[in-house]
Amino acid sequence: MKFPNIGEIATHQIISVSINDTLSYAIEQMMQSEHRSIVIIREDGFSVLNVFDVINFKNKQYDLEIPLSDLHLAKVPVLKKEQNILDALEQIESAEFICVIDETNSLYGLVTHSDITANMDPDILMESYKLEDFFKIGKKVKTVTPDTSTSDVLKDMVKLAYDNIIIVDESAQPIGILTTKNIISLVKLHKDLTLSIRDYMISPVETLTQSTSIKDALAYIKTKHYKRAVIVDNEGIFVGVISQSELISLTYSNWVTLMHQHEEELAEVNTLLQKKTQKYEKLASTDVLTGLYNRYKFSELFLFEHQLMLRQNSKMSLLMLDIDFFKHVNDTYGHDVGDKVLVEVSNSILQTLRNVDIIGRWGGEEFVMLVPTADLTMATGLANNIRTTIAKKKIDIAKQVTVSIGVTQVQEDDTLQSALKRADNALYIAKESGRNKVVSQK
Ligand code: GH3
Ligand code: MG
Ligand code: MG
Repeated sequence: MKFPNIGEIATHQIISVSINDTLSYAIEQMMQSEHRSIVIIREDGFSVLNVFDVINFKNKQYDLEIPLSDLHLAKVPVLKKEQNILDALEQIESAEFICVIDETNSLYGLVTHSDITANMDPDILMESYKLEDFFKIGKKVKTVTPDTSTSDVLKDMVKLAYDNIIIVDESAQPIGILTTKNIISLVKLHKDLTLSIRDYMISPVETLTQSTSIKDALAYIKTKHYKRAVIVDNEGIFVGVISQSELISLTYSNWVTLMHQHEEELAEVNTLLQKKTQKYEKLASTDVLTGLYNRYKFSELFLFEHQLMLRQNSKMSLLMLDIDFFKHVNDTYGHDVGDKVLVEVSNSILQTLRNVDIIGRWGGEEFVMLVPTADLTMATGLANNIRTTIAKKKIDIAKQVTVSIGVTQVQEDDTLQSALKRADNALYIAKESGRNKVVSQK
């Protein structure tokens, strides 16, 4: 048992076109083969076009006759077919598809997110254990022919401590079964035990083939309320009997083996998944450039802090900051320098505010701050600190940078929108009255 490699889980039913073909040709190929995605072979790798892309292009009223090379499609990650499924997990993060290549670097197949998760599913791994794996261990079984006397069968059962015995015909196919439950009724009804077992066996007997998976065998036993399954090979020849408890312990012992064999890989998967979760949580709540909270997270925190303010009957203020003449920074020094200035301003704000204050990037070069426990006077003081800190700071890449700030105190019946509106008005007045200013509005 092992984790499958990429080649094993890749789907081979793929269609492909060249990057020099037209969009309409690609769509036609998808239609003809009823595929939802098509691989585009480009000189430097592969891209994938799917139904949603097609709908998107259609909505944007693209000319379907344009060559695929004009669509600027993103390249998909590529893995070799003998690579480990864990390598795919690393890659799949950014892409929905992974192209799989063979030894000659030709396209071998396609792997999707769900292919990977499906193949890591413990249930699916258990499906690959077959009943025959159990019988390979060399389990002893005894069968009898139908002519055997019933008393001899019972003696055998006692001697061998069997709770059942299988009766087979001359070609070793099971034709009947006798279980301890049947014996009790034989005794109770004072049956003649010198008669052959043929007269008392339960017949016919239901069987499972040895290629049945352990998972299916367990399900069979459960739905039928059987205590055991009688196993035959593909020709119907008796192989053995497996009890419910043996099946369960087999399942567990296989699991234990599997865990041992894959201890390292599983630990690796675990760490990877943990890292990913952390990353997604962070992505969902922070602005990539500055690391400050984004709009979404700031709005969520506002609700929380507003509730707290009401409960504690305290005060809270909201600040809105906008960099002055920021267009000029971008135009003079370039967008990259502009980005650096944004980070510098964000750092200056962080240094000036207290730990309990909440800072978010509202958009472009606008920052919002929530200052718990601060009334309008206190918040205005804080805003002036921020303003002077930034104005004094030598941001060498873009000479001096100044900011304007609008301040308002959050009222009991405020929503974030209504409070922001006042802060924004104040900010507007600050800009109008010459910039590098703080204006507050109750
Ligand atoms: P004002 O003093 O009136 O605020 O003037 P301004 O030039 O700052 O005017 P405005 O606020 O309208 O301009 C904002 C500019 O910020 C426009 C946009 O190009 C730039 N910008 C927005 N987001 C980013 C960003 O992430 N990086 C960079 N470098 N620039 C950005
Ligand atoms: Mg602005
Ligand atoms: Mg501005």
